[in-house]
Amino acid sequence: MIKLAMFDTKPYDKKGFDKYAADYGVEIKYFEAKLGEDTADLAAGFDAVCAFVNDSVSATVVDKLVAADVKMVAMRCAGFNNVDCRAAHGRLAVSRVPAYSPYAVAEHAMALLLTLVRRTHKSYIRTRDYNFSLSGLTGFDLHGKTVGVVGTGRIGRVFIDICRGFGMRVIAFDPYPVEGIDYVDKDTLFAESDIISLHCPLTTDTYHVVDGDALSKMKEGVVIVNTSRGELVYAEALLAAIKAGKIGGAALDVYEEEAEFFFEDNSDHVMPDDVLARLLSMPNVIISSHQAFLTEEALDNIAQTTLQNLSTFFCENVVVNDVCGGCNGACKNK
Ligand code: NAD
Repeated sequence: MIKLAMFDTKPYDKKGFDKYAADYGVEIKYFEAKLGEDTADLAAGFDAVCAFVNDSVSATVVDKLVAADVKMVAMRCAGFNNVDCRAAHGRLAVSRVPAYSPYAVAEHAMALLLTLVRRTHKSYIRTRDYNFSLSGLTGFDLHGKTVGVVGTGRIGRVFIDICRGFGMRVIAFDPYPVEGIDYVDKDTLFAESDIISLHCPLTTDTYHVVDGDALSKMKEGVVIVNTSRGELVYAEALLAAIKAGKIGGAALDVYEEEAEFFFEDNSDHVMPDDVLARLLSMPNVIISSHQAFLTEEALDNIAQTTLQNLSTFFCENVVVNDVCGGCNGACKNK
């Protein structure tokens, strides 16, 4: 049996992994703790670790895993910006789940966008209190609006299909264009879009792709949707633009400093992050807790692909869905 230590485990993770683990010859020990410098020692005695978006696979963590004779890091997510690929290369096999359900994320992006522009988040709270007033709930039609999509990979393309279904004009930016999409340069996308949705990975090129300079090039009243990675948006600049009335709204499933707060119940604590607290206080900002991936279909695919990645490596010595052999260090190592 392959002995796997799974970090940052939540109850919803276990269902799929418990269902398929035996089929792939994997025995799993679940840890609630996140993987990081303080917890990497827990991996001693295991063949592999399984990590998620807010775990840290830094150079120090890689050193500790290698010293503990761990052979593989199986990421159970698509993004791998939290893996120090240079440190891992040639020392640890690192796999990921490149596509588990692009529909889950793209549909959540549209759900956030519709909620924001039709003020559903406000009316939900009002009607529960028998307040049936419509004042302040005026939205706008998506039909006929221009949406700028940054990143036209698996998720971006599904999101584009959904937007086309709504009768929106779609423009896009991606250094690797594909057929059938109207591409423009980034500044044109910023200048012409009524809505901008981010679907690119976090790399050194995309870090703070939406910063103060980018925001200054956007239309008055632009709506920003980010379901990719928090660090794509410079949160302080976004907050300043919202306070200045430049931004019509922001729908965020991810946040720069989310690792400290997301996926946990912090309702009993004072929020120490002033930017997050201020964003949450805005009527035209909605934030979900990195939940875009969270559908039954996606969780099932994540479990199966992660276990398949482990089984293929330990049984056939082949790393499928390889991260560190293929990225050429393009991922952001912090
Ligand atoms: P993908 O690899 O299929 O597509 C990414 C696209 O981004 C590619 O077309 C690539 O060419 C493009 N790209 C690369 N550099 C770019 C740049 N500088 N500017 C613009 N585009 C660039 O990935 P995907 O499956 O579509 O996922 C996209 C991202 O969504 C992931 O990297 C991950 O960060 C995020 N994600 C979030 C969740 C969630 O739950 N919120 C779940 C899954 C994925």
